[in-house]
Amino acid sequence: MSDLPEFIEHLYEKYRLLDSGSLASYIPELTKADPNWFAISIVTKEGEVFQVGDSQEHFTIQSISKVFVYGMALEDCNRQILLEKIGVEPTGDPFNSVIRLDENSKRPDNPMVNAGAIATAGLIKGSSATDKLNRMLNMFRRYIGHDVFIDAPVFMSERATGHRNRALANLLLNFGIIDNNIDEILDLYFQQCSLVVNCHDLAVMAATLANRGINPITKQQAVKSCYIRDILSVMHTCGMYNYAGEWAYRVGIPAKSGVSGGIIGVIPDKAGIAVFSPLIDKRGNSVRGIKVFEDLSDEFDLHLFDSPLEKCSFLDISKHSKESMVIGN
Ligand code: GLU
Repeated sequence: MSDLPEFIEHLYEKYRLLDSGSLASYIPELTKADPNWFAISIVTKEGEVFQVGDSQEHFTIQSISKVFVYGMALEDCNRQILLEKIGVEPTGDPFNSVIRLDENSKRPDNPMVNAGAIATAGLIKGSSATDKLNRMLNMFRRYIGHDVFIDAPVFMSERATGHRNRALANLLLNFGIIDNNIDEILDLYFQQCSLVVNCHDLAVMAATLANRGINPITKQQAVKSCYIRDILSVMHTCGMYNYAGEWAYRVGIPAKSGVSGGIIGVIPDKAGIAVFSPLIDKRGNSVRGIKVFEDLSDEFDLHLFDSPLEKCSFLDISKHSKESMVIGN
């Protein structure tokens, strides 16, 4: 088994020049990303940091936000009410699919596809749109451990061009899943997607999920630990768009990706992993991100269903405690 800092450096070099995939263009502002950006960050539940590449480069979180807003909605409404409005069934359909609401319940299939995420945004509590946004930003602050911002141009760009999401919201309204303040709900959804993060932030957020909801660096509780199982379950079955089944088979780590090129993975009770590279495949997943996760999972036996006897994880902290380090920028 390799040494972790060396191995992520090796992965960075191995995939740095892989240039298949393309930038997401259906949100015009996202085409401003640099296709060369590439970072790998790992944060353990003890707060150790391993990273390589452009880990401080800023980008918008996009769909990865769905994981954290789902946790917030669970806290705001409780599990039962949420389940009445949003299912937990993988779809096999693209993330922005318009065609599926459950025939009987009219619920969107799960909170990781856009229809389910818009319904989730509709369940966030607050006395006004501003109050809801502030509560949401505070939630993200707890996960990330520092102040957070919305990228206004990306938000405006998505708001101006998000006709498909607007259609989904109308469908949800028609079936009584959201109430009729569609513009407010969509704004909150577009704002959550426009949150500015870097790859290190994403790894801290993933590590917080790995650490029963406690940010391993600030030690602040970001989400009640009783909801971690809900969040990780939907990540595991629905987090990678219509690649979720293959991902679960090949990589075996609860994960979520976004069209700006981030992927987070959670190793329960151990660590959070984030990869950022904005070239995405047809399903919306970062091409280099998938490769890096596949190699990490293979090398360190991270698949959840690997035999415990085979697991000899890099996350055995005693081995690396003096080697926590930052490589590259
Ligand atoms: N804001 C994007 C949308 O709703 C998120 C898509 C994604 O990252 O999957 O289309």
